[in-house]
This record gives sequence, C-alpha cells and structure tokens, in this order.
Amino acid sequence: MTCPTCGEKGILDIIFDYDLIKKVLTKDRLAKDKDPSMFRYWPLLTVTDTKKAMLTIGGTPLYRSTHLAQCLDVDTLYLKDESVNPSGSLKDRASAIAVLKALEIQATAVACSSTGNAASSLACHAARMGLKSYIFVPERAPIGKLNQLLIYGANVFLVQGDYQQTFALSKQAIDAYGWYNRNAAINPHLVEGKKTVALEIAEQLHFRPTDWVIVSVGDGCTLAGLYKGFYDFKALGLIDNIPKLLGVQSDGCSPLVDAFHFNKPFVPANENTLADSISVGIPRNPNKALNAIKASLGSWIKVSDQEILEAMSLLGRTEGLFGEPASVASIAGLKKARQTGLISRGDSVTVVLTGHGLKDPKNAQLATTKPQAIAHDFTEFKRHIKEGGHHV
Ligand SMILES: *Cc1c(COP(=O)(O)O)cnc(C)c1O
Repeated sequence: MTCPTCGEKGILDIIFDYDLIKKVLTKDRLAKDKDPSMFRYWPLLTVTDTKKAMLTIGGTPLYRSTHLAQCLDVDTLYLKDESVNPSGSLKDRASAIAVLKALEIQATAVACSSTGNAASSLACHAARMGLKSYIFVPERAPIGKLNQLLIYGANVFLVQGDYQQTFALSKQAIDAYGWYNRNAAINPHLVEGKKTVALEIAEQLHFRPTDWVIVSVGDGCTLAGLYKGFYDFKALGLIDNIPKLLGVQSDGCSPLVDAFHFNKPFVPANENTLADSISVGIPRNPNKALNAIKASLGSWIKVSDQEILEAMSLLGRTEGLFGEPASVASIAGLKKARQTGLISRGDSVTVVLTGHGLKDPKNAQLATTKPQAIAHDFTEFKRHIKEGGHHV
C-alpha cells in the first residue's frame, strides 16, 4: 500500500476517473439522495459494497456560529461537529472503510495502533460488523477512549511506551499475524474515508466552501483527507476553489509546523502535549500533510496547551459543543490566526471539531474549576448566594 521507492513516507494516492464519475456524481443526484451518511459519496470511495449494516457515519452537522464568531472577531464561522459520529470522532470515517475493505478480502480480524480515537472507532465498527479487533494503544491513552475499546470488546494491548513505540510494535505484530491493517498512514483507502468530511462541508455550504478550513494535525491523515476531498470536488467541477487549509499543532509537539517554518523535512519531536490525539512525534503522513497546506496556499500554526484548555471552555460556553483537547486545538488556532492577522475578519472560516470532550474527562477538569459543595440548607444557600459571587 506504500510507495516502493519512498517506503512508508510515501503512502500512495488513489486516482479516480473523474470523467466517468462526473456522470453519476452530480449536484442533482446528491440533492435527491436520501442517504445522509458518508456513503452518499460512494462514486468517490474505494469500497465495492457500501450497503452493509454499518452504523451511521458522517452526515454530521455544520453549524453557523454566532457567539464564538463574535468572541473571535470573525464574520463568518462554521463548526463541523464530528463528535456525533458513532464512536465520537472523525476517525469513524476511516474505520468504516477499513472494516469494509477487511470484509471484502474476507479478513476475520482488523488491527491498528492509535493514540486513541482510531482505535476506539475501529473497535466500534469491527464489533458492529462481526470482526475481531486487535488494538495497540500507548499507556497514556485517555480513560474515556480506553473504556470505549473495552466496551466494544477489542483485544487491547496497552503498550508501555509512546505512540512511536506503539506504532512500531503494532506493525511487527500485524505483519506477523496477517490482520487487516487500519493504520491510516499506511493504508491509502483510509484517507479516502476521511475526505468525506470535506465533501460534506462543501455540499452543506452549497458548493461554496469557506475561504479557510482549520483542523488539528497529528499524523497528517485528516488534513490530507480534507485536501483530497476538496481536490476531488474541484476536479469534478463541483467547487471552484480549494479552501486554504490551516494545520494546527500544540507547541509541545509540533514537528510539522516547524518543518513548514524552517522549510525542511520534519525532525522527530517529543510528545509533550495533553492533546493526546495530536501528540505525534513522528508523523506518519508528513509529505501529504505538508503538500496539502502548500497546494491549498494555507498555513500552519502552533498553540500552547494552556490555549487549548481555554479554547475548550470558550467553545463549550459559547456554542454548547464539548471537544477533546485535539478537537479544540483548532479553535485555539483560529484565535491565534486572528490575533496574528493570518486570517482576517472578513475571511470565512470552517473549523473541524474532530472528537468529543467526554473521551478525556481528566483534561476537561483542567479546563474548569470544580464548584464548591454546599449544604442542603436554604439559609446556608442564601448566604452562599450573597457571598459567592453567583449572579442570581
Ligand atoms: C486523529 C485525530 C486528529 C488528527 O488526525 P491525524 O490524521 O492524526 O493528523 C485530530 N483530532 C482528533 C480528535 C483525532 O482523533
């Protein structure tokens, strides 16, 4: 599945026959299609059967922001809420494809290594479709994601090591045992699944996507998928322009941002951020990620963990959306891009919110202050109100 000359840094691109696809994938057809899931874009996917009894993946809402847009001083802001996918993250789009591909070749087991969400989504859809799953996660995986794996009945290997070491072990095991490999950065079909988020954004905006689309970046597959989706729609003549993509990393682990700024290949970084989903020291899809930003005329930005935590509560209190740290890093990135002037007020923006906040309760606690407990006594309560600074 990877390039014979570049090895694992060169994940192959899947090339479509756009002239043929143009005949079946039209605005009219899409408008009439009653399937709200990602499989409404089947002509642009690489699976032969999409009608299997999958859980409903994709078709996630794109909300127009009012309050957050005001706070961040942007005129037009949309929020793509990927947390409502079955396992609570955008990774479901890739896992769906992995499971269908595995069934196509009559594999009985699927496997992956993951910082957490790829794992929980693969376990989820494997369970639904009757496949065994073998999952490698680093010990630091947040409790919510680990619980998901166990509830979905995965065979979980909790690896004493960082993500790089976890990935290396999974590769050896997958090669040795012949499980279907869902490692997104190795399997080109998976980026095709992830690209459906871009197709949805374009369709939801009546084929006039925003000037910018912002997403957080770990391995780079989500970003590569976004680019591929917009690229496909442009090739089909369905949109005129590919939006500028803004890739966001934490300053505790920013190999791709640094590679961009120094205009050099990336240098492996320490994994030193609380945003576990983007705590990736050796990105597995660096070339496609860097190319996506370049080709879209976009940019890169890094934010601190503190800014990520602030973005988490800002998003929650202004929009009622609860994102895990990696998800809201994109909001922190937008805030910074407005401050530095990279994005101006008049630019329209879509932010992709990649995963649900309930997956990582420990970090959510860091973003908030626990309220003081009070006695169940009304006199006490009134004193509490008087003294406590509650605006009643
Ligand atoms: C995986 C993930 C990302 C980053 O995607 P990559 O393909 O690793 O760049 C961002 N946010 C969340 C919630 C994720 O699970």
